[in-house]
Amino acid sequence: MTRYEELWREGVRRVTAGYALLSRADREQVDRLCRSMVARKEAMQALVARVDAASHCAGCGGACCVKGKYHVTPVDLVVYLATGAELFAPLFDNGLCPYLAPEGCLMPPGYRPFNCITFNCELIEDQLPEEEVALFYLWESELRESYRQLRALFPDRSADGPLLKD
Ligand code: SF4
Repeated sequence: MTRYEELWREGVRRVTAGYALLSRADREQVDRLCRSMVARKEAMQALVARVDAASHCAGCGGACCVKGKYHVTPVDLVVYLATGAELFAPLFDNGLCPYLAPEGCLMPPGYRPFNCITFNCELIEDQLPEEEVALFYLWESELRESYRQLRALFPDRSADGPLLKD
């Protein structure tokens, strides 16, 4: 097993244990926060899809997805647990972002990490009307706050920090 596979397994174990230790009230709050984060991320993706973000990404080859090894955090794993979604298996030997499969990101938009869903390159952002850019960044700050609240609900800081490191 490679070092990254070990770190991934340990991260999944740590987050699953932390989730199991939550009180009923905290778990309900975590689950609510997770569902709202998924909906918010889907709305952000839908907003950029209106200016055909997918074809811009295909046109440049998805350069921002090449080295995304550290984007997935414990909180992103919590969202999988809280919503009952099936967790993917990273591709640590693909030489790129380990969550990038030939057909695209292994995570649907509502589950993608904060850095991925909130990043717009200028090719996309320049085509959005000003008020939609403002809305996008308002949602980004709300999403950042949801991540903060979610981390704070976990005992022993078990949802803090990175999953992978060099
Ligand atoms: S996690 Fe997904 S969206 Fe983010 S860089 Fe990797 S492939 Fe791209």
